[in-house]
Amino acid sequence: MADVVLNEVTKTFPGGTTAVNHVSLAVEDGEFVVLVGPSGCGKSTVLRIIAGLEDATSGTVSIGGRVVNDLPPKERDIAMVFQNYALYPHMTVDENLSFSLRIAHRAKENIRAQVGETARVLGLEELLHRKPAALSGGQRQRVAMGRAIVRQPQVFLMDEPLSNLDAKLRVAMRGELTRLHQRYGTTTLYVTHDQTEAMTLGDRIAVLDSGRLQQVGPPEELYAAPCNIFVAGFIGSPAMNLARVRVDADNGLVLVVGDHRWPVPAAVLTARPAVRGYAGREIVLGLRPTAFGLPAGPDANGALLTVDAVTVESLGTEKNVILAPPIVGEARIDVTHRTETVGDVGVGEMWTARLPATARVRTGERVTLSVDLAGAYFFDPDTTAALPVAEAVLAAA
Ligand code: ATP
Repeated sequence: MADVVLNEVTKTFPGGTTAVNHVSLAVEDGEFVVLVGPSGCGKSTVLRIIAGLEDATSGTVSIGGRVVNDLPPKERDIAMVFQNYALYPHMTVDENLSFSLRIAHRAKENIRAQVGETARVLGLEELLHRKPAALSGGQRQRVAMGRAIVRQPQVFLMDEPLSNLDAKLRVAMRGELTRLHQRYGTTTLYVTHDQTEAMTLGDRIAVLDSGRLQQVGPPEELYAAPCNIFVAGFIGSPAMNLARVRVDADNGLVLVVGDHRWPVPAAVLTARPAVRGYAGREIVLGLRPTAFGLPAGPDANGALLTVDAVTVESLGTEKNVILAPPIVGEARIDVTHRTETVGDVGVGEMWTARLPATARVRTGERVTLSVDLAGAYFFDPDTTAALPVAEAVLAAA
């Protein structure tokens, strides 16, 4: 096994598109790192550069301490798993699994043992004589995975391997991937545009936007402390609600959110003292859907939000309430990847509150919710960077 180190890797295609921009990333030996970002951000290009299917314009790629920029793909000791499986249609599962070992002229008994073990681990023993056309999508994906495993490479590179599967199978295969990683411990780089997949699979997640690495860290860290508006909006589902709001100095600090005036709790100022510097200016406020709740009663203290419930989605144990945003027009924050639409209104313009299933909220009704500002996030509107958390608070966490 081996580590994978990208050092200032840049890729500019002949047409002038810079798909990867000064990316530096160190994947440790045995680690499972997920590269995530919206379509076109350069994820696949990073993987293809590591595999040797594309040349980097500048920068170096090292595998196991050796710079591999000039090595052809077959000498890099990696195995790649693609979205479209890339199985040989005229070969049986057995032949697909053994192909790379046969062309490497491995001994027959060695091939038998390797293929047998892989088929057993992946539950493919009953299917060895079938051809890919006679397999389900999930079975084909397992064969594709098996073909990578059987070679016992130093590194797995996986490019959206589950995206052709239906939702249920994807969840099952995610579990299987985790189990396989625990068993073999092979260094893995996994590409997806699906933040849920990234959160559930990765030891660490690397978030890419427009070819640039935004943040690298364990899933919990990216969720709890996103470094900027892009990561904040990308990690977490439903996405964080974001708005540009005014900070007024009025007997303490107050956030002006549309018609609402929310006093900034002392705990927020202790945790993020830099908020004080925005008095009289605008700041970007971020609220997770879980920051909303039902007010304790008509005289409830603290921040309250009264808006229209545009849609109510019941999830069984909870419900997502899509809210008309309290702020409209220029004050909206456009997070480009939020492109799904509800009717003719972009979801990015809406807010989402996650409430208990018992909450009595109906589509089209006006609702009043409590807002837990202690868990709010704050960003600079110009740089988009998150306001730093005070050292003392970090140390205590
Ligand atoms: P997706 O999730 O849609 O697959 P991605 O994040 O994997 O996207 P890449 O496929 O790496 O993105 O592409 C990054 C950028 O580079 C895109 O703008 C794409 O159009 C461009 N690009 C990719 N391959 C080439 C190529 N061979 N020639 C020119 N431009 C390319």
